[in-house]
Amino acid sequence: MIEPLPLPASEDGPRLGVVPGAPHGIDALTGLVDRDHFLERAGAMLAAGPGLKAVIMLDIDGLRRVNQGLGTAAGDEVLEALAQRLMAASRKEDVVARVGGDEFAVLLAGLGEEDEARVLATRLAWAVEHEYSAGGHKLPLRVFMGVAVGPQDVASAEKLLSDAETALYAAKSGGEARVLVYTESLREQSAHRFALETALRRAVDRNAFELWYQPQVALSDRHVTATEALLRWHDDEKGWLPPADFVPIAEDTGLIVPLGHWVIERATAQLAEWLRRGYRLNMSINVSARQLADPDFIFQVRELLTRSGVPAQSVTLEITESQVMRNLEVTLPAMLTLRNFGVRLAIDDFGTGYASLTQLKNIPADELKLDRSFIVGLEHDPRDRGVVEGAVQLAHSLGLAVVAEGVETFAQLNFLTQIGCDALQGFLLGKPQPADEVSLSLSVDPGAAERE
Ligand code: C2E
Ligand code: MG
Ligand code: MG
Repeated sequence: MIEPLPLPASEDGPRLGVVPGAPHGIDALTGLVDRDHFLERAGAMLAAGPGLKAVIMLDIDGLRRVNQGLGTAAGDEVLEALAQRLMAASRKEDVVARVGGDEFAVLLAGLGEEDEARVLATRLAWAVEHEYSAGGHKLPLRVFMGVAVGPQDVASAEKLLSDAETALYAAKSGGEARVLVYTESLREQSAHRFALETALRRAVDRNAFELWYQPQVALSDRHVTATEALLRWHDDEKGWLPPADFVPIAEDTGLIVPLGHWVIERATAQLAEWLRRGYRLNMSINVSARQLADPDFIFQVRELLTRSGVPAQSVTLEITESQVMRNLEVTLPAMLTLRNFGVRLAIDDFGTGYASLTQLKNIPADELKLDRSFIVGLEHDPRDRGVVEGAVQLAHSLGLAVVAEGVETFAQLNFLTQIGCDALQGFLLGKPQPADEVSLSLSVDPGAAERE
């Protein structure tokens, strides 16, 4: 847990953020000034003369989940606590405001140099980002910040706030830096992202997607025992786009919920067809934490299984280790319920998501997919061999099957066979391909032809 920094010495008199007894321009929940009032104050401060000014915009990550999971009263508790922490940790001359549902802004005046704004923002982030308690729960919530520094002559208050907002959204979607300072290139990136988001919405409406399938081969008998469904977007101008180009945006915007529903529908229908033709196969389907957080998800999965007629145990839902870890309080209960239906669960990209051994023990999963980054090094780096061998042993001792991802060479295949890995997936055994091109021939049940 991050301890709050020591608070600035308290001084008597009302703080600039709170205007007692003046409901106009004041946010009723937190007592902070609202967006309009903030812009007025910022405008006046900018007009007041020289000296660098900056606006910090802050957003609390996960408030939606708190509202959904624990109720809006719990969400309000978090917002009130955050407002108090912000007030306590900001300087007396700063103006603190609530400018949106879960968005706060701080106006900093009297800055000596540009970098001071970033330092103050980081300090504020540390100060407000420790455990929150709401609805009887302890919640470790993260904050993101965008900072815009105003050259005194050109910047209007609206422009500063909008630049800070651009930096905030960049910080939220980038995931690495929690505090980002606005630059022109961020504006370009955000325009690019906006265009992509619009195109993606259109593509979801027009259903411009396809699933490709990549075989998984069991090492025991070298037969294709499963395929993984991998999403592709067909853009009229750019051709086929890989998921890395659009799945993160679909996750941020929530479009992954309808899109992911279509993926499960299509993949289970494809599996039903293959099963009818005599293949004995499982289907692995990627899902995002955002889908698991949707209260309807579990019912939809059940409905789609019934509609397609495929047995639940023939479907493996894959969720990346990092997404499981980032949203444990939402993902774990959903995973438990899914598993109770009989659906198999896999931890994808294992080794990149920092699950502790204790956590790993408690994640309800059937399969662990070793990330490609470890497989790449098998031939050259003895440490990767050690890590992979250790991971296979660990997984087996927890009762999990191990699938190695990204196998490209026979040397990798041989090593993975020697150490008892259960199944392989990779370009060596087959690239992702459209349903009618993917090779499943090894897994045909010999009796199937007669039965048809
Ligand atoms: P993933 O689930 O780990 O899928 C494996 C990725 O590794 C696939 O990339 C696959 O093409 C690639 N790959 C497989 N074997 C090899 C190999 O031997 N060498 C190399 N270099 N790459 C290999 P792809 O299809 O681009 O998918 C990337 C990621 O996008 C997936 O990683 C998954 O996390 C996500 N994704 C794909 N489809 C969906 C979906 O329907 N829903 C969600 N939420 N995410 C999806
Ligand atoms: Mg996967
Ligand atoms: Mg993976």
